[in-house]
Amino acid sequence: MLNKKVEDALNAQINAEFWSAYLYLAMAMHFESTGRAGVANWFKMQFKEEQAHAEILINYVNQRGGKVILKPIDEVPESWESPLAAFQHTLTHEQKVTALINNLYAIAEAEKDYATCDRLAWFVSEQVEEEDTAQQLIDKFKLIGNDGMGVYMLDQELAARTFTTPSPLAGK
Ligand code: MG
Repeated sequence: MLNKKVEDALNAQINAEFWSAYLYLAMAMHFESTGRAGVANWFKMQFKEEQAHAEILINYVNQRGGKVILKPIDEVPESWESPLAAFQHTLTHEQKVTALINNLYAIAEAEKDYATCDRLAWFVSEQVEEEDTAQQLIDKFKLIGNDGMGVYMLDQELAARTFTTPSPLAGK
């Protein structure tokens, strides 16, 4: 059974993951409308990944006999001045999510809820990857600048991203 403090904190994180999903879907829709299909595809896959993050936590709360409470999802921005700006926003957003996960881990640890710490350990590693991926894409966009061929090739690379079911959801 989950204690109330941990349950509330997990529910807040479920909302944060859905907000992330909404943010990346907004980015996908923005770049879809500005003719950047590859960038739009990358953010669409990111949207699916964030939904999967929420689902992992939802399954966990249920498994522990808690109750998932779905709160309203706050508004998200609707446009970004360039793909570089969107990936910079992605990095600062993921840094904030990392802080949320760390805070959640600290709450579970203080409550001696080691099962929750164990589940959250997957998210701790995931955040390292999220920040690293965003930083790598920022570097690439800076490197190519306005070079048409570079922009075209990077768009092809982003267009190739597919969704991979995160391991905690595999087989569910
Ligand atoms: Mg996430």
